[in-house]
Amino acid sequence: MASNTTSPSSMPHVMNTYGRLPIALERGEGVRVWDVQGNEYLDALAGIAVSTLGHAHPRLVRAISDQAGKLIHCCNYYEVPLQEEVAKQLVWHSGMTDVFFCNSGLEANEAAIKVARKFGVNKGIEAPAIIVFDHAFHGRSMATMTATANAKVRDGFGPLVQGFIRAPLNDLQALEAIIKENRDVVAIFQEVIQGEGGVHPCDPVFLQGVRKLCDKYNLLMMVDEIQCGFGRTGKWFAWQWAEGVYPDVMTLAKGLASGVPVGAMICGPKVADIFQPGNHGTTFGGNPLAMRAALETIKVMEESRLLANALTVGAYLQNALKQAFEGVAGVVEVRGQGLMIGVELEKPCGVLLKRAALEQRLLISVTADRVIRIVPALILTQQDADDIVARLAPLVKEFLAE
Ligand SMILES: *Cc1c(COP(=O)(O)O)cnc(C)c1O
Repeated sequence: MASNTTSPSSMPHVMNTYGRLPIALERGEGVRVWDVQGNEYLDALAGIAVSTLGHAHPRLVRAISDQAGKLIHCCNYYEVPLQEEVAKQLVWHSGMTDVFFCNSGLEANEAAIKVARKFGVNKGIEAPAIIVFDHAFHGRSMATMTATANAKVRDGFGPLVQGFIRAPLNDLQALEAIIKENRDVVAIFQEVIQGEGGVHPCDPVFLQGVRKLCDKYNLLMMVDEIQCGFGRTGKWFAWQWAEGVYPDVMTLAKGLASGVPVGAMICGPKVADIFQPGNHGTTFGGNPLAMRAALETIKVMEESRLLANALTVGAYLQNALKQAFEGVAGVVEVRGQGLMIGVELEKPCGVLLKRAALEQRLLISVTADRVIRIVPALILTQQDADDIVARLAPLVKEFLAE
């Protein structure tokens, strides 16, 4: 059958892993995108909390173009000064110590899991265990999929990786009971605001309690800030809202380079020197192109005061959504922080609502079957926020009335 003399068939050859919506985007500018037919959309999703600066930000475009003309990749056999520059920024903003760069969220989490295991083994624990939470999402590799709570992500891919124990979120007593029962626990790993699980924030008191438990039992506090971190909540990292809390390990990806693939694991003093050469590595990770994009993203975030913007426009948007849905039967709750907002409905709304939103020329997503997720670029204006509500509220009301 295979022949190089005929033209390529028109059959799709990309594996069917996404259940895609029927539009193809061609270009964007700020929080607007256009499909191949020329239709304009308001982007309240930012490629799942990725496009921090919006689309085609002139500063980022210039930095990436300039870097592409100099050096895209050189591998980690050599010093990469741009890695040091980005690491310096991340350390400065987090108060943590050292950074490992990779290419995605799950890679950052894999690195964190390896840190936890090595930390445990160094303590003399042969089979270290990590506590993870209900509704957690940490990725789709073997280990991060095991750490993820959703059975849909895990089913059919066993045997799963050993060494994970699941706990309920925001329940310190249950957590301490698990730690006491399991002498092999070495780390507590959590999203500060769960994203894929349905936009569930951790209580700051819970985070403070986790820190205390980690100190009491000599465990690592590890936070997955891949979705909620990097300015989205109005602070650099969502854990910074909980006074006195500092994690031992933090993972970042999504928004870190405003769309160029990059991940990072950041360690505090307790484990900053746990890896020795040969213990961990990556070919692409931290390449000059990705680092230049991350560095420029950070600079623009600072110069344009995007954290403050995320805070004020986020609060404005959340408030406007609350008003729009006040007293509407079928809306359970509007929640979130900064520009990470969820609207929970009583009934599943997955595909239907995403399609209806497309007709209103609005990009959103739905997580956990019935939570509308809004995670736009941090450059969103108050006017854009009004526009989101104007497009979203009527279609949600119509959907609920059916
Ligand atoms: C998206 C996400 C990941 C996985 O990141 P990938 O880049 O898709 O591997 C992990 N944790 C959280 C909280 C995420 O939102």
